[in-house]
Parts: sequence; structure tokens; C-alpha cells
Amino acid sequence: MKIIFKSVFLLLILLGSLNCKQQAKETRQSIAIIPQVAEINQTEGVFQINSKTKISCTKELKAKAEQLAALLRPATAYSFPISETNHKRNVISLVLDNNLNSLQEEAYTLEVLPHRINIKAASISGILYGIQSLRQLLPAAIERKEICKTNELWEIPCVSITDSPRFKWRGLMLDCSRTFWSVEYVKRTIRLMSLYKMNMLHLHLTDDQGWRIEIEKYPELTQKGAQFPEKWNEPKAREGFYSKNDIREIVDYATQHNVTIVPEIEMPGHTLAVLACYPELSCTGGPFEIHPFFKGPNVHEDIFCVGNEKTFDFIENVLSEVFEMFPSEYIHIGGDEAPKARWEACQKCQARLKEDGLKDEHELQSWFIKRIEKFVSANGKKLIGWDEIMEGGLSSTANVMYWRGWLKDVPEKVISEGNNIIMSPTSHCYFDYKYENISTMKAYRFNPVPDNITKEQSKNILGLQANFWSHIDRSEAGVDKQLFPRILSIAELGWSPENSKDSTLFKEKVFIHLDRLKELNVNYYPDSTIIKN
Ligand SMILES: [Zn+2]
Repeated sequence: MKIIFKSVFLLLILLGSLNCKQQAKETRQSIAIIPQVAEINQTEGVFQINSKTKISCTKELKAKAEQLAALLRPATAYSFPISETNHKRNVISLVLDNNLNSLQEEAYTLEVLPHRINIKAASISGILYGIQSLRQLLPAAIERKEICKTNELWEIPCVSITDSPRFKWRGLMLDCSRTFWSVEYVKRTIRLMSLYKMNMLHLHLTDDQGWRIEIEKYPELTQKGAQFPEKWNEPKAREGFYSKNDIREIVDYATQHNVTIVPEIEMPGHTLAVLACYPELSCTGGPFEIHPFFKGPNVHEDIFCVGNEKTFDFIENVLSEVFEMFPSEYIHIGGDEAPKARWEACQKCQARLKEDGLKDEHELQSWFIKRIEKFVSANGKKLIGWDEIMEGGLSSTANVMYWRGWLKDVPEKVISEGNNIIMSPTSHCYFDYKYENISTMKAYRFNPVPDNITKEQSKNILGLQANFWSHIDRSEAGVDKQLFPRILSIAELGWSPENSKDSTLFKEKVFIHLDRLKELNVNYYPDSTIIKN
């Protein structure tokens, strides 16, 4: 497969990425699908989209057909009528095929013949990914939101593709607390993730700098906890919160794009925004005030008092509303960077520690996480925490998000205890870092399965994730730059078969994709590991 693909690629790469005018002169396009597909064969000929091209589908795929038509209509100005009629020619056919049940959940096949295109899958998510691969076989100009005015030949090379993901978790975390991101920006992020077959959007909804989600039982969280005090003169765009309607809109939109929204509600640390509203949930009683990230400590010593039952009432009430809003089976409860100074000095926390025969405050944190996990499990959800939740003992069912890249033995420890892990170490996956530290090609060199992990053990690796913390880059254009193009590395590592890893090929494909990103108005970073001088 690889050899066939490479030779085709090298031939076509000479054509480079072409603008609208050039495309009219050339008849063939580069094949540069990201993430790399599992199997591809190119055959003779092309399928040419024209004003008579139709889309056919069964009833249950109508919404996918509409999504496909919406992608193709603006630049081509063709109508792409959708029907259930089984046309023979000049048709893009979408079919749910139970014979493909043996393939994984998100798998699909894509066959481009000179007279028709067939996308088949056993699931709707597979059909969507077939559409995304087809989209990438078209020139970048297809992404335009207005008519491409030159005499465009919308040609698609004839190929036969069978494709399925390597990992079930192909994620991105957006920090909505340090800086609030609008619903529109979140939706745009979902669209871009879907283009690159990424499927988990982890929203960091609460932290010291703000509480960003409406909880009906605790209105102060958003009345007070979502705004910076006036003295900081923070622009209004950087604060705010998602109403329940906003969340519904985001979740529905994400579902259409095969993206699961994983909410994170931080505890027991990173809770200053809560304590500013409800100081009685702290060990000292406060008072507290929210501040922008660089106007105070990075990590606050004031955290939830776990000797106080009211803390648990609060958390359970909040989580109950969160469970209702998000269909995700996973819920992230943070668990990172919780200094123990307040617990050491708090009578209530110390009484709890003695009562339960705990050795120290690390065991107290472990006790706290386990108690929360019982509540999470009782509600049919699975708990995820940052890797600090291992300290003081890990429950048998918790999922660990590995971030402290300098602690090399964490993955092995987690897996040897039988727990699942999501790989997002600072060394390769922290995209608030500069490109000088993590370039696109460095991110691509990341191995999500460490060398000392056996094949059997690797089943405990759910996948990998890029993390974006919004304390430094606080504009949408700034986030774009931090994420693109290097997030394409995470997309490819998460989806493509291990044996397809090829730095030279990947680099060339990313270079070609810069044109597509430009058409999509993505403010990508001019990464010198991708752009040749
Ligand atoms: Zn306390």
C-alpha cells in the first residue's frame, strides 16, 4: 500500500497545491489526505463533478448528504440534488452497509470511479469520515464560501480507500476558563477537528480565572464567577459563560460532526472562581477574588475543603446538571495541582483524615477522588482525571490523562494497574508552548505507545490529545496559530496505522494542506519544519 501511495504521491506532488486558475489547466490533483488513510489504491481516470452531479442516500443518511452538499455547493455553485433514487451515473452515493460491521465503529470505504462515487460504512460516523476524505481529494478551492469564478474542473482522482482509526480518542482540549471562547469559535473548532477526523473536544470549563457554564442551582457561579473584577479592565470578550441553550447548541453541532464534548469541572484545586462565590466551601472561609492569570499565583493554595460535607453537596448538585447537559460517557474532574497547605492546617480536613485512617494529605486527595468517582459511576459515567489522581492510590476504574511529560514512568504505572490512559504529555502535546519547543514535526515524532508497553497493554491507551491553555494567547487568531498546523500531527498519530508513519510524506502533505487552511481562514503558524525556504 505504502509503495503504491508513495509513487503516486511523488508524481503528483510536482503539481503542488494549485490555485483556482492553475487547476483549470491541470487535470490531476495531489493526493494528500490527513490523517493518512489505512489503505489506498489509485486507478486510472477521474470523476468530474459538474452541474448535473447528484447525491443519493437512504433516509437515515439524509443529514450526511445535506452536510456533503453544503460543503460542495458554495465554491462550485452546483445544486447537488439529494434523493433516495439509485442513480447509476454522475452520482455520489452514501450507503450504510451492514456487511462492513466487522470493521471498527468509525471505519468507511470510499470508491471513486469515473462514473460514480461510493461511500459505504456501517455507521453514520464512518459515512462522515468518508465524506471528509472525499473533500480532501478535491482542490483546496472547494473550501471557498463564494463561487470560484474561473472555469474550474472539479476533478477527483479515481481511488479505492478502506480506512479505520488506530485509537478511539483523538482529542483536543480548549481552556475556556482563562479566556472565554464564543459558541461560534467552539463550533468552528468542531468543524476543523472533524475535517481531520478528530473526535473528542475536551472543554476546560472551570478554573481559578472563571466559571464558564450555567448551573441553575448556583446562579452566582455565572453572575459573579464568570466575570473578572472591573479593576482589571479585561475585555468583555474574554469573560462570560455558556448558557444551557449554548451547551445544547454546541453538543448538537458536535454530534453532527462526530465530535464528543467532554466537560471538565476542576476539583479539588483550581477552584478560586467557585470560592469567590461560595467562600464557605474553602478551608479558611475567604474572602476570595478572581484575577487574570498573570495577576496572581499560577496555582492557588485555596482549594475545596474536603472535611466539609457542604463541599460534596455542591459538587454532586453541579455534576448532576452537567451530566444532563452532556451525553458524553466521560466526565473530567481535573484533580491536578491541588496544594495541600490548607488541608494540613484545617481542623475539618484533619478530622476527616483521622476518621478514615488516612496516612497523609495525598491519601486524603485520593479518598476525595474515589468518593467523587462513586457518584460519577452511579450516574453511569466514567471519570477522567489529570495524572495527579494517581497520588495516594488510584481507583481501579478511573481513566488517567497523562500530562506531566517529565514523569516518564506514569504510562507504565497506570497501565500495569489495569487503568486506561490518554496521552497528552507536555513534551509533545502542549500547544500553548512555542513552536521552538514543539514544532509540527516534533509533535509528529511522538510515540503514543511507549516502548516498554506490550501490544496487549497498549489496549489501555485510549488515544492522545493536544492541550491548549489560554493564559498566554488570548485571541482567536492566536489560538489558530498555536494549534495549526501542528495539530495535524496529533490527528495523524491518532488515526493512521502505526506502520504508515513517514516523516517525509507527512511533511509534504502538511505543506499542501496549508492552502486548504488558508481557504478556511485559519491563521496557521509559518512553521519552519514544514515551510521550505
Ligand atoms: Zn478543610
